[in-house]
Amino acid sequence: MRILKGAEVSARIKEQVREELEKLQVKRPGFVPKLAIVRVGENPDDVSYERGAIKKMENFGLRAQSYTFPKDISNEEFKAGFKAINEDPDVAGILLLKPLPKQIQEKEIDCMMKPEKDLDGISPVNMAKIFMGDDTGFAPCTAEAVVEVLKANEIPIAGKRVTIVGRSLIVGKPLSMLMMKENGTVTVCHTKTLDLPGTCRQAEILVAAAGKARMLDEAYVGQDAVVIDVGIHVDEDGKLCGDVDFASIEQKASAATPVPGGVGTVTTAVLAKHLVRAGIRWAE
Ligand code: NAD
Repeated sequence: MRILKGAEVSARIKEQVREELEKLQVKRPGFVPKLAIVRVGENPDDVSYERGAIKKMENFGLRAQSYTFPKDISNEEFKAGFKAINEDPDVAGILLLKPLPKQIQEKEIDCMMKPEKDLDGISPVNMAKIFMGDDTGFAPCTAEAVVEVLKANEIPIAGKRVTIVGRSLIVGKPLSMLMMKENGTVTVCHTKTLDLPGTCRQAEILVAAAGKARMLDEAYVGQDAVVIDVGIHVDEDGKLCGDVDFASIEQKASAATPVPGGVGTVTTAVLAKHLVRAGIRWAE
C-alpha cells in the first residue's frame, strides 16, 4: 500500500505560495498578507490548532495573529469584536475556530464574514460558489486538501466512484461538490445509510470524514481502493489516529493517507494558499 504523505503535498503548495508572494511583492513591495485566527475560549484542541496554523503561515512567508475572546462573552460583544476584525484593512483573511459557545449565534457570524476574507468557505456566498462550481470563492480548506492530495499524487478522480462518509457543512458536503467538479461519480454516506460497509466497498476512492476513531476497517474498503482519512482523534493511549483503522486496510487499499501526517498537514497549506490569494485580491 502506498502511503500518501501530506508533507510532500504541502511542500508543493508552499512552492506555489512562494511564487504568488513574489508576484505580490512586485505589485505591493513589503506587503505580506495577514491571517486573523479568531478563537473564543481556551479549548486545548483549538489552541494547539492555532499554534500549528501560525507556525505554518510564518513558515510559508505569511503573517498570522490570534484574536481571542473569553468563553462567556455575550453574542453582542463578540459580534462587535468580530466586526472590527472583519473590517480591519490589515487583515487579509480570517479563520474562525468552531464550534463557538452556545450563547453566540454562529450563523449570524458566518453571514457577517466578508466572503473575500472567509478563507475556510463558511459564508453563504462562498458556499453558493462551491455549489455552482465557481472557483472565485474559497472552499473549506479540509475539503480542498482532499482534492490536493489526490491531484499531487496523480490519482485520477474523473469517472471514478468516489464515496464520502460524512455530510457535514465543513467537510462532506463541500467535498462532494469539489469531487463532482472533478467529474467523480459521488456517493455521500451518513448515519442513516443502509449497508455502509457494502456501499463503501464499491468505492474506488473512499474518503472517511465521519468523526469516529478507527471506524472504517478492511470491511469498508474495496480491493485496491484509494483511502483518504480526514478524521483526527486522540485515542485512549493519547495517540493521534484517524477515522480509518490504518493497520487493517494495508492488504486491501492501493494507497492511503496516514494520521498524523496526512490530510491535516495539507489543510493548513491550503489555508496559506487561500491567504496569499486573498492578499493578491486585496492588493488589486
Ligand atoms: P461532523 O461530526 O460535523 O460530521 C460527521 C459526519 O459523519 C456527519 O455528517 C454524520 O452523518 C457522519 N457520520 C457520523 N457517524 C457516522 C456513522 N457511524 N456512519 C455513517 N456516517 C456517520 O464532523 P466534521 O467536522 O465533518 O469532521 C469529520 C472528521 O474530520 C473529524 O474527525 C474531525 O476531527 C476531522 N477534521 C479534520 C480536519 C483536518 O484538517 N484534517 C478538519 C476538519 C475536521
